[in-house]
Amino acid sequence: NKQVILKEYVSGSPKESNLQVRISSINLKIPQGCNGILVKNLYLSCDPYMITRMKNLQLKQDYVHSFLLGSPISGYGVAKVIESEHPNFKKGDLIWGMTGWEEYSFITATETFFKIQDKDVPLSYYTGILGMPGVSAYAGFYEICSPKKGEYVFVSAASGAVGQLVGQFAKLSGCYVVGSAGSKEKVDLLKNKLGFDEAFNYKEEQDLNAALQRYFPEGIDIYFENVGGKMLDAVLLNMRLRGRIAVCGMISQYNLDQPEGVHYLSNIILKRIRMEGFMVFDHYHLYPKYLEMILPRIRQGKIVYVEDKDEGLESGPAALIGLFAGCNQGKKVVVVAHE
Ligand code: NDP
Repeated sequence: NKQVILKEYVSGSPKESNLQVRISSINLKIPQGCNGILVKNLYLSCDPYMITRMKNLQLKQDYVHSFLLGSPISGYGVAKVIESEHPNFKKGDLIWGMTGWEEYSFITATETFFKIQDKDVPLSYYTGILGMPGVSAYAGFYEICSPKKGEYVFVSAASGAVGQLVGQFAKLSGCYVVGSAGSKEKVDLLKNKLGFDEAFNYKEEQDLNAALQRYFPEGIDIYFENVGGKMLDAVLLNMRLRGRIAVCGMISQYNLDQPEGVHYLSNIILKRIRMEGFMVFDHYHLYPKYLEMILPRIRQGKIVYVEDKDEGLESGPAALIGLFAGCNQGKKVVVVAHE
């Protein structure tokens, strides 16, 4: 059973060498009556929050625990049930949820899994558009931002797993949408494939405030926040009266010992801005409603999804750590096995 294990806790920026690929033995028979399932992992999702779990967390936060040293890391993935002692799962079922970064996983916490019913779309989509990032984009944009036709929307990390969907949802709602991303290729992708009205490379802008003024001469109604730091500061200066900011993530801050200060928070008062953070797992009750909305649009080609797949568990460490250097072009997925 090939596995990706945590070799040492991350301090400062994560490195590939914090992780290690190893082979260990596994018993492919599960004990009778244990209520568990044995799964073959197919697709593993690379998500920025996983870096937090690679740190030796001292905080007593019940929603995030450190990975165990020397054990396989875990995250969202798509898997196939190969043996089951659980009444709700049978051999051959395809599922998505929290699994191990390994070829086969024995799982007892089956309540975190969704059964995959719709198989006419790429199965890997259940790590992205049809999985956790999809629900994040849906809940964050529709529930928190309450978009209205004609509004001005800005999305950071716009070509990523979540951002590319927010931009397309904004277009479906009749909004004007601009995205920021970290390379020319990503900017082209946003404008030419994902339907953003405009996009810019934030790494090439000396003055983010000036860049936002250029794209939003009348200001921003909705900001979907993925990065934090300097970008948030510049956005606060450019928000319109009664604007909304959905705080999904702040990836630019995750690996800093000392998070950057945000200087223009008082704009929240002056402009009556509503800024709200959210955690996707509070919103999974929306999943059936989301599937109903998104599946027909995928089938009709009205929503597209860009994935960036790496083959084999060996590619896992580089794929995961690469998120922080912007190496991924779209949703980063590690392919462990094809069905
Ligand atoms: P992505 O697929 O967008 O991958 C991460 C991207 O972030 C990189 O490709 C890179 O793109 C960008 N990035 C990396 N470092 C920096 C930096 N220092 N400054 C600015 N941008 C950076 O990830 P996701 O779409 O999965 O996640 C987006 C955000 O949403 C993250 O902050 C994540 O933690 C958060 N999230 C929160 C959830 C919640 O429940 N609240 C659920 C899911 C995600 P580029 O080349 O453009 O810089």
